[in-house]
Amino acid sequence: MKRMLTGIKPTGKLTLGNYIGAIKPCLDYQDDYEMFIFIANQHAITINIDPKELKQNTKDLITLYLASGLDPNKVTLFLQSDVPAHAQLGWAMTCHAYMGELNRMTQYKDKCAKGETNLTAGLFTYPALMAADILLYDADYVPVGVDQKQHVELTRTLAERFNNRYGEVFRVPDPLISKVGAKIYSLQDPTKKMSKSEDNPKGTINLLDEPSVARKKIMSAVTDSYANLVYDPEKQPGLANLMQILSVITGEAIESIADRFNGKGYGELKKEVGDAVYELLSGLQARYHEIQNSGIVEEILAQGAAKASVIADRKVAKIYRKLGFKLFKK
Ligand code: ATP
Ligand code: MG
Repeated sequence: MKRMLTGIKPTGKLTLGNYIGAIKPCLDYQDDYEMFIFIANQHAITINIDPKELKQNTKDLITLYLASGLDPNKVTLFLQSDVPAHAQLGWAMTCHAYMGELNRMTQYKDKCAKGETNLTAGLFTYPALMAADILLYDADYVPVGVDQKQHVELTRTLAERFNNRYGEVFRVPDPLISKVGAKIYSLQDPTKKMSKSEDNPKGTINLLDEPSVARKKIMSAVTDSYANLVYDPEKQPGLANLMQILSVITGEAIESIADRFNGKGYGELKKEVGDAVYELLSGLQARYHEIQNSGIVEEILAQGAAKASVIADRKVAKIYRKLGFKLFKK
């Protein structure tokens, strides 16, 4: 079975964009791949975050992942900080990444361009930690949204650099980007990504939003004002965004949705998308409350960390030997 790995930062509240771009692919893949899913809490502290908020976000996130239908018997779900190998290999990766490479990473570049000050060194070096996260497990594939592609490319570069310098130690992973839903946009500005760290309540649907509130947000989504509803992400991005949301939630192909709404009005489409989102959130939230009250999360995380550690520790031991850290055989 091919191996797949994905992580998510517990910063902010999970959005519909996260569900469509990150959670849904995991659901679709969990039967056919060996999946590792980790909560990237070490990435979360690259920005100033209140520990109480971090804890709550982490709990919500795991519970929402499970509520979405991830089966803990099929996937390995764990906290990054529970597996020290991430930080250990992360340092080795940081020492093999060049300043120029990290300088080109968009998250850091964007924040600099916006004139943000007091950026941490961690925010600059975290792509090296992310490379470690992936390479520890010899992942074949990393399912990501478009925004993360650059990170996987750096991971490939670092893996190849290691392999050239120390012999074949890492599998070079491939990014896996869905054709539909790889980038869901803000409902109020269809040129901007829907993000959990963006403070735009009307443009963002949180997975824990009251379902009727979420439906209203869809109904008041900014669309274009062409006479005809045509699926064209370039010319009609607001409309394409809604069609993508509907397609991923219901499983209906984009072409079929576009055909059905040909000649119809925006209101009809919005109503259908609003209903689909309403149904999705209602079901998700019912399961969320069940899991929250069940107390099973602690055990799932302990099992996940134990399973991940076996693989990750072995990889770190190998790298430590290659780097010249190990003086003796045992
Ligand atoms: P932040 O604003 O804190 O960066 P985020 O919403 O971008 O939050 P991440 O933790 O950076 O979330 O990414 C988690 C996963 O969700 C990644 O796989 C990313 O590609 C995916 N993702 C995030 N936003 C979207 C979106 N709007 N559409 C599709 N996928 C998304
Ligand atoms: Mg992001």
